[in-house]
Amino acid sequence: MTERLHNLLLRQSEAGEPAILWGRLAKPFLGKEFDRLLHRGVLIEETPADDWDVCSDCECGHDSRRIQRIDGKLIAACPIDHRSDTVLEPEDLRSFRINLKSLVREIAVASGFTAEPTQVMPGVWYLGVAPAKRGLFLAFTRNNILAPGLISSLRTTGEKLPITIVAPALPVGDLLRFAEAGIHYTSIADAFSPAGTAFAIDAEKLVPPSSIAARLTLIREQSKIVLDGRELKLPPTGFKIMWLLAETAIRDNGRVSSQQIEKHLWASTVLRTAVGDAIRNLRKALDGNDMRGKHGDPLVQNLTAQGYFLNLEAADIRLVN
Ligand SMILES: [Zn+2]
Repeated sequence: MTERLHNLLLRQSEAGEPAILWGRLAKPFLGKEFDRLLHRGVLIEETPADDWDVCSDCECGHDSRRIQRIDGKLIAACPIDHRSDTVLEPEDLRSFRINLKSLVREIAVASGFTAEPTQVMPGVWYLGVAPAKRGLFLAFTRNNILAPGLISSLRTTGEKLPITIVAPALPVGDLLRFAEAGIHYTSIADAFSPAGTAFAIDAEKLVPPSSIAARLTLIREQSKIVLDGRELKLPPTGFKIMWLLAETAIRDNGRVSSQQIEKHLWASTVLRTAVGDAIRNLRKALDGNDMRGKHGDPLVQNLTAQGYFLNLEAADIRLVN
């Protein structure tokens, strides 16, 4: 058996509902695991077929042939030429519907999620927070992926974490749409390791390769930052600000106010311009060493009324004590 039952079900599911597994296709897989999936409601047996396709090139004019039991054999008889009769096995008459909701539940459990998956849009499920702190989504059909509003729906559900979506193979245009939105995409064919545990998503495939190595590392002991491999030793004040910004970014992608920086740096009241001066010195040091954040924009940014923040993804930042 070259293909495993699980891979077959995942592949059949990419056709969307109703996803049907015909008995003839299921035959090599009948057995213990098949029965378990029937029991779990992932597979639902349909009423057995009582008719069959007409034989090829038939001139009988019928849409289908009734299946008859003749001498203990199941036969789809041709009304014109009995040499065209088809002898069927009992399994040929069976068919199974793949219940996508139950299949998603099976995948969630096998992948270590404890909460019930939630459907955020037709055919798109949220599984929960995956290792490496990413919101994980699963979709089976291309149509589900192309639905308008998908990306904003993922963002709303994704608990402000970086997002990974496991979905069918997509054309380049759709891949770009995800890349531009900062969403990591993995195909169903890649996400489930063929040799791994049945229905378990391979955690390694959920992280984009670029963020496995952090872009920015802060090393406290040496008062040093490393960005994209370039090192810079900072004066104590500058380093403390960077640490505070990095910690806040990792914790909740948050902003840091002037007052918070002041409190963090100095025990007593200081001149009103002190924080501004400290930030200016830090920025000067970063710029002078060409240390920049996303899209080549300044690394330390300031939004009026919101505060200061690091212009990097939280997943790209690492703290070393
Ligand atoms: Zn015929």
